[in-house]
Amino acid sequence: MTAEKAMGDLLDMVKQQQVFLEMFVRSWVDDYRSSGGAIFCGKGCRNCCSLAVHTGFAEALAVARQLDETQGRAVESYAMKLRELLKGVTELPEYLRLHRQTMGFCPLLTDAGACGVYPVRPLSCRSLISTRESVWCGADFSQLSQAEREAFVAALDRKVVAFPSHYVAVLQESGKELEEAGAKNMRELLGFSLYGNLGVLVHLCRSHGFAEACLEGKSSAAGCIAGAGFDHPLLLTLT
Ligand code: SF4
Repeated sequence: MTAEKAMGDLLDMVKQQQVFLEMFVRSWVDDYRSSGGAIFCGKGCRNCCSLAVHTGFAEALAVARQLDETQGRAVESYAMKLRELLKGVTELPEYLRLHRQTMGFCPLLTDAGACGVYPVRPLSCRSLISTRESVWCGADFSQLSQAEREAFVAALDRKVVAFPSHYVAVLQESGKELEEAGAKNMRELLGFSLYGNLGVLVHLCRSHGFAEACLEGKSSAAGCIAGAGFDHPLLLTLT
């Protein structure tokens, strides 16, 4: 199989997975609302876009191919800032906390508060569906009082959420399963899989010839990551 064909196959699968998840999310949300449940995601919502987004390589490549120069520069500056921020950080909770407090919104979010890559946004973004008002998606729970935390937890619909979060469990699980299928597909096509921070992966694809390095194999991909200074286990995982 040629390198071009392998890359085309990876991108085709991503597209199919995203369409599938989109349909599943719509149908699940319609059913839940019909049975009296409340879902608060909608146009203009953006608080979840301050979370660190992690994706498989092919999803990031699909995003990288859609960006214009302005978006590319925004992603580059995000990746550089994150690389500095994570020097000396070894624990996931600290990474997530620092990311939320320091990095601001996703570099792909537009000034109008919309996703700038909506048609190709990753599975992890598509599968995050909120059963509470959007203010909770941006809340810093460490700043809440005990009473506020207890009131939040008491109001959750435990039958559907990924407790103790307010996001729908089955949709997140479905997104994860699709990501795992994507990783398996990548291993079959290229001999390895790669998962990591969306902004970092997109930046590598746009500015460091990363897709070409991946087509040459795992060691070339690892060399490209190290050469660009992003060989941090919390940012990228090659398996
Ligand atoms: S890719 Fe789009 S939906 Fe996902 S965090 Fe960024 S702006 Fe939000």
